[in-house]
Amino acid sequence: MKKIHLYDSCSKEIQEVPLKEHEKNYMYVCGPTVYNHAHIGNARPLVVFDTLKRTLLACGYEIALISNYTDVDDKIILAAEKENITEKELTDKYIAAYEELKKNLNILPVDKKPRVTEYMPKIIDFIDQLVKKEAAYIIQGDVYFRVSKIASYGSISNKNLEELKVGARIEENEKKENPLDFTLWKETKQGIQWDSPWSKGRPGWHTECVAMIYDITPQHHVVIHGGGMDLKFPHHENEQAQALAYDHRPLADLWVHNGMVNINNEKMSKSLNNFIYAKDLIAKYGGNVLRWVFLSTHYRAPINFTDEVFQQAITELNKIYMPLKQAYVKLAFVEEKLKNSKIDVDKYDAFLDAMADDLNTTQAISVLFEMVKQLNVSIRQNQLDAAMVLQNCNTVNQMLEVLGIVPLTIKLTEEDKTLYRQWEAYKKNKDFENADKLRKILVERGIL
Ligand SMILES: [Zn+2]
Repeated sequence: MKKIHLYDSCSKEIQEVPLKEHEKNYMYVCGPTVYNHAHIGNARPLVVFDTLKRTLLACGYEIALISNYTDVDDKIILAAEKENITEKELTDKYIAAYEELKKNLNILPVDKKPRVTEYMPKIIDFIDQLVKKEAAYIIQGDVYFRVSKIASYGSISNKNLEELKVGARIEENEKKENPLDFTLWKETKQGIQWDSPWSKGRPGWHTECVAMIYDITPQHHVVIHGGGMDLKFPHHENEQAQALAYDHRPLADLWVHNGMVNINNEKMSKSLNNFIYAKDLIAKYGGNVLRWVFLSTHYRAPINFTDEVFQQAITELNKIYMPLKQAYVKLAFVEEKLKNSKIDVDKYDAFLDAMADDLNTTQAISVLFEMVKQLNVSIRQNQLDAAMVLQNCNTVNQMLEVLGIVPLTIKLTEEDKTLYRQWEAYKKNKDFENADKLRKILVERGIL
């Protein structure tokens, strides 16, 4: 099987991913806190890690993707109060919106989607174990993680302890042993609460992902742990610290992070008033175009959203879809019955090589365009080699599938064929008025 390489934030180098053959591998991607619609920064990891999953599947690996929903948080309590609904009603609403977004971005069904509210006994038990191992301590109903237990703390975000301490002192909490110690459980008076051995309250954000990974995966471990760059510190650092304290093993073989999204060369933020929801871009351009935009930049690089970037994506997708349409129309008039699922093995292999090389989608897309060129040449031959045309179409579509870009096949009905022949006849006779009318009908039918 093809070896997969990815950049690991912890070792700071590109590494071979230790995937098991003929056995299930697990990947975990931190999901959203569901108090609002997803902005485009939330949409990028959806596309990146779905494309990674598709690549692993295409290379023959078994892979299960786990991604949580954080449905307990201060922001959720505030938003529910503002919308005058319960927290459950609010989170159900935004989880449904998120699922709709995934459908629009052509994301494969996620294998497990645990919610924090459904995981409370396991989260409480996990924190309790950390307390027993003296990696956590209780102060007045709150539980904190003891960062001094973990010598390698800071390795994912590439920060040293002294640096981190200086930053943390700004928001120093008098009760904590060390300013870097983070909350595992906090006593709360407002919003939804759970009973625990320490107080009525709710868990901190950093424990849920670890408790879920420990529960769902047989080895208490994932091969790839993913998320946006902004999650490196403190979230992923804190996840890793808990796993190391729990059983002296890292939580993941590789920590993989995608780059951020900028709008017209500016960082997206509410204060700059350039906050864009993914659903609004999808309403404007469609999910397929948005997905293509994400894939046109390497996943680790920052991506800059401008109108031109979207126009370019539309042009590029047309360059792929037009020859596919033309090819299927030509094939519809071929006498012989073609049932060929053959592909250009060499080109497809070169495409997968690029994908397996730290998910080099830009290189893979250039191989895809070489294939489109080959398709263009094959449909312009005077003597049409139908089997070759079909093979080229199959290869282009199979590459699109791996990218999660909607493939295109057309089957013409007898009526379509009659209309098409008529259109050609009008053109030949220079009856441009009727040719134009028919052209519109054929465009509506998706043939032209
Ligand atoms: Zn997480």
